[in-house]
Amino acid sequence: MKTVGVIGAGQMGAGIAQVSAQAGYRVLLSDMDVARAEAGKAGIVKQLARAVEKEKIAQADMDAALANIECVGGTQAFAPCDLVIEAATERESVKRQIFESVGKVLGDTAILASNTSSIPITRLAQASPDPARFMGVHFFNPVPVMGLIELIRGLATSDATVAAVETFGQSLNKRIVHANDAPGFIVNRVLMPMLNEACFALGEGVATIPDIDAACQLGLNHPMGPFTLADFIGLDTCLEITRVLFEGTGDPKFRPAPLLVKYVEAGWYGRKTKRGFYDYNGAEPVPTR
Ligand code: NAD
Repeated sequence: MKTVGVIGAGQMGAGIAQVSAQAGYRVLLSDMDVARAEAGKAGIVKQLARAVEKEKIAQADMDAALANIECVGGTQAFAPCDLVIEAATERESVKRQIFESVGKVLGDTAILASNTSSIPITRLAQASPDPARFMGVHFFNPVPVMGLIELIRGLATSDATVAAVETFGQSLNKRIVHANDAPGFIVNRVLMPMLNEACFALGEGVATIPDIDAACQLGLNHPMGPFTLADFIGLDTCLEITRVLFEGTGDPKFRPAPLLVKYVEAGWYGRKTKRGFYDYNGAEPVPTR
């Protein structure tokens, strides 16, 4: 595998492009237009410059990685790719349209993969030219820092496809785990019920936001408490994934906590709106309940 295409140059796509380029792949990066792809690359330049400043990588490594990334427009440019990873907006219609369009130009051994967090892989595969060469490759945010990739095979994904993408993931120095095409895969299946349960506990008056956070951080040895983490992820995203778990399994244990729904309805999405379970407008986060 030599040439990797990345479609969507947002926070995930740019991260995937960066680690692929650092591992020596030629990377073609696109977005809605070349200007947005260039903006994604500009973010990579900043990331790498910071790494050089902290002496984590050499200037020559940065230059080599950047030389590997080419911003392109349209899908025609992806014809030479061995692997194309779609990391566009989490909307099924957007992803389907991308697969249909890029599918027309890909070679007959090229693999198409999606970084979706929640859309079933088997369903998405129907929009690809060959579901045997389609699978989920779920990176974590921020991609250069997080050491995990979940690989998700659809019903029709071939063993050869899984093996090729696993080899690619390992070459990025990531630990690979395999998940079946079930709602939330592994990490969100385990994490979201915990964040949702913290919301139930808060709503029932079990404890305050700072005490639940401190209890989980120190009592479970987690790097941060559930409300701090949920505010980082975005409460809208947490609710969306919890709904996918609830609807996908039909199991009432996954029903979204009313308080989480209320925060999202209020537009309090966490850090990105400066208010979620904490208010971020001041120097220090202040609990909102
Ligand atoms: P983002 O909003 O930062 O980036 C999405 C990018 O896709 C944007 O730059 C947008 O312009 C582009 N885009 C939209 N339509 C497009 C099209 N038709 N063609 C090309 N580009 C298009 O979002 P993100 O956080 O990078 O998420 C991208 C994907 O990764 C989603 O599927 C998301 O579920 C998944 N994901 C996100 C995280 C996370 O923590 N943010 C973690 C794992 C997976």
